[in-house]
Amino acid sequence: MAPERATASCFCGGVQLEFPVEGEDMVNSFVCNCTDCRKITASMFASNFIVKDSALKHLTGQEKLTEYSQSKTIASGNTMTNFFCSTCGTLLYRRSSGFPGMSITRIGTVDDHKLHETKLKPKLEVFTKDRVSWWPGVQGAEQREDGDLS
Ligand SMILES: [Zn+2]
Ligand SMILES: [Zn+2]
Repeated sequence: MAPERATASCFCGGVQLEFPVEGEDMVNSFVCNCTDCRKITASMFASNFIVKDSALKHLTGQEKLTEYSQSKTIASGNTMTNFFCSTCGTLLYRRSSGFPGMSITRIGTVDDHKLHETKLKPKLEVFTKDRVSWWPGVQGAEQREDGDLS
């Protein structure tokens, strides 16, 4: 049986992606508390999953995606490129020079909210050393002080 697939979209609906939510092309799901993720989400943490680029399809709006890259605040020294909707500003995914062939997609953009609770629920939480003191973290997730996603 082929792995189950789902869609994700930005706030305005102009950009839509399709990807697997299980199987070897859905590599991991994790929450990140790093200081970059605070800025990027305008919140206290990011909830992400990782899919192989070969399994990530752009259904609509790929031409609307704007890219922004930098490396100066990335602990590993890698360059991280952000792909966001040029109309509404939603960040759809990030790509790191340290993880070639993979995209870091965003659980919150997935259209089927049931998946946020099930197949996409974060298994791992990283940069717990940067976690805000009033949030206890993800129940049941493996916790790492640093950014090790392996
Ligand atoms: Zn949009
Ligand atoms: Zn982060």
